[in-house]
Amino acid sequence: MKIILLGPPGAGKGTQAQRLQQERGMVQLSTGDMLRAAVASGSDLGVKAKAIMERGDLVPDALMVGLIEQRIAQPDCAKGFILDGFPRTTAQAEALDRMLAAMGVKLDRVIEMEVDEAALTERIVGRFSCAKCGAGYHDKFKQPAKRGVCDSCGHTEFSRRKDDNAETVKTRMAAYRAQTEPLLPYYRAKGVLRGVDGMAEMGEVYRQIVRILDGT
Ligand code: AMP
Repeated sequence: MKIILLGPPGAGKGTQAQRLQQERGMVQLSTGDMLRAAVASGSDLGVKAKAIMERGDLVPDALMVGLIEQRIAQPDCAKGFILDGFPRTTAQAEALDRMLAAMGVKLDRVIEMEVDEAALTERIVGRFSCAKCGAGYHDKFKQPAKRGVCDSCGHTEFSRRKDDNAETVKTRMAAYRAQTEPLLPYYRAKGVLRGVDGMAEMGEVYRQIVRILDGT
């Protein structure tokens, strides 16, 4: 199954994509994670993306399309993938359509995570993740069972994203509204769009997503 998770920053796309990957063997394709890895490695792409990401703006379409085009063609994606953070603009969505058509692959569903924007800043600024395995946590909503120790791998170091601060979140939200929200009517017109209540508890959001996937 090939799906897109769509929603503003902090909607829970990454959390749900991680669980779908673990439980259903679909591959999580997070362009944000790919870019953060590029920044950490100091690659050409990373050098170009770093300042843009720190401001909360969008990285140019041509770079993003090239990145996803390479990744989606890897053999592990054939069994199914979850696009998390891509596409974010109409140009990216159109490029994705062309890519999938050339590969003879059908997009099964686009799932909108419906959220109350006012709650998102609190969700975002409290986020942190295990520095080793990437498992996600939150100061207020999801501390590890044993404080300071990752539930998944036992590691004791955690990291926070540089762009998860109140100031940058404003720019990221504005980018979502202006450039990504127009994708909702784009996918609605194709008949693939479904919605889930992104404000529900994490397990309930997951169940709603699974119901959509199993109903197709
Ligand atoms: P995310 O982890 O999805 O919140 O992405 C973090 C940052 O990476 C965004 O604020 C953008 O600067 C950049 N980014 C990730 N995916 C894309 C994309 N599809 N198009 C443009 N910029 C992106």
